[in-house]
Amino acid sequence: MIEVVDKLLSENRNANYLAICPMDTNGKCLCHECAAVETEEGSAAGPILRFANRIGEAIAQKYPDVKILAFAYSYYQEPAQKTRCGENVIIQFCASDFSMFHAANSNENKERINSFLSWRKLNPSTSFWIWDYNAVFKDYLQPFPNYKVVDENIKFYAQNGATGIMIQGDGYNTATDFVSMRAWVIAHLLWNPELNYDALKNEFMSGYYGKAAPFLQEYMHMNEKYAMDKNINFSLGKKSMDFLSPEAISRDSELLAKAVDTVKDDPVKLARTEIARIPLLYALTIFAVDGKMNAASCKGWNFKNNAEAIAELAKRFKEYKIINVEFSNVADSARLIQMLSAAEARPANQNIHQSIKNKATSYVPIVNDKEASDGLAFAIPGNTKEWFVQYRPPAELSQSGPWHCYADIRCDAEADNGEAATVGIYDIQTKSGKTVSVSVKTIKGTKYKTIDLGIHELNPDKIFYAAPANRPLNQLKTVYVDRFFMVKENAKPSL
Ligand SMILES: [Zn+2]
Repeated sequence: MIEVVDKLLSENRNANYLAICPMDTNGKCLCHECAAVETEEGSAAGPILRFANRIGEAIAQKYPDVKILAFAYSYYQEPAQKTRCGENVIIQFCASDFSMFHAANSNENKERINSFLSWRKLNPSTSFWIWDYNAVFKDYLQPFPNYKVVDENIKFYAQNGATGIMIQGDGYNTATDFVSMRAWVIAHLLWNPELNYDALKNEFMSGYYGKAAPFLQEYMHMNEKYAMDKNINFSLGKKSMDFLSPEAISRDSELLAKAVDTVKDDPVKLARTEIARIPLLYALTIFAVDGKMNAASCKGWNFKNNAEAIAELAKRFKEYKIINVEFSNVADSARLIQMLSAAEARPANQNIHQSIKNKATSYVPIVNDKEASDGLAFAIPGNTKEWFVQYRPPAELSQSGPWHCYADIRCDAEADNGEAATVGIYDIQTKSGKTVSVSVKTIKGTKYKTIDLGIHELNPDKIFYAAPANRPLNQLKTVYVDRFFMVKENAKPSL
């Protein structure tokens, strides 16, 4: 490990920090040595902190400006009782299972915040960082009225010895519940935690939304009130729209229609206000699809039926390039996705299923590409072989197969020969699959090529993936992935 760290740092001379932490799983080491250290330290953080300290010691002389980050997170959240943080080691405390509707120092988070305070007490002389969260990772687009909590948290951490704070919000969508306001206010508070939250919020809202601001503020206030009345309590990885009701959605929609009306002659502010409306429209469609509400009865819109509300949402998804929608609040997500696909006039029917971008998992940017089926493509740099675009087919496909599977990909390359990418289907249960190697010759250029992945029975354990061929960028610049799609075998519709 020390050799790996040395290599990484020698190749990245500008790096100031290197995080040493286990991946996001609960699979801690069960060996006798680690178990003994854990007992000695009273926490699973013991072995991890000692490990980080050893690496810190090993690199201190050669890389005096580099700090090692050791997390306090997950199963190793509780402080190590015996070992102290090394001189060039920073603890980053992750507020991952905090109730996100309650401030860090509230009663609801008492136990967790005590763990932060005791870490700090045990390691008073070291730098100490916080990793806090400000998004619903299970369903980014849902209304999430915890606006003020982040202010209380930043102030609390700063007053209690945090020397660095990172707030992780939604990095994917522009339409997440007041995401611009959150980013602006959070940035200001991180510069100066003593600033007044309400003053910052009001300044942003009136500057950014103009005359629509009072209606939007009223909407935010109403949602805060609904959530408080229901005492909503959920942590990272959970989601909930229980604080909303059909009456609340209708009342809120009416407020937002008024907001839109005040800025109808100002295209910039109008677009911003329309974007602010998306989470509520999303909530409305979810309530409608799940049979809890009829969109036609919702004030503020003139929908004749649920399909019109869904079509409106689909239109906005496309217009504002909303790419990361989990649909996890909706009971019948397959139905909503199907209706969205239909509304977008994609070639989707009961015989054709395709991965829409917001359902694929990716670790790479989505870029505009007019040749792609929906004008967007995943762009993977050519110098990796990671499965950076993956798609897990929905469960209902398992009852209706077999499916003939395809991938639409292309690449930008200087090279004319050799491999460009691999695409395939991998069964995570049986650890087997089908891989198709695709040559540069086949997919080079601006047009997408359809790669035949063969005929398969599908289920959510069979993951579609695409990966570049790991070549130098001057040979293979970018592999673009448009979509995976499946045609029901024996149906043979025309595409
Ligand atoms: Zn071990």
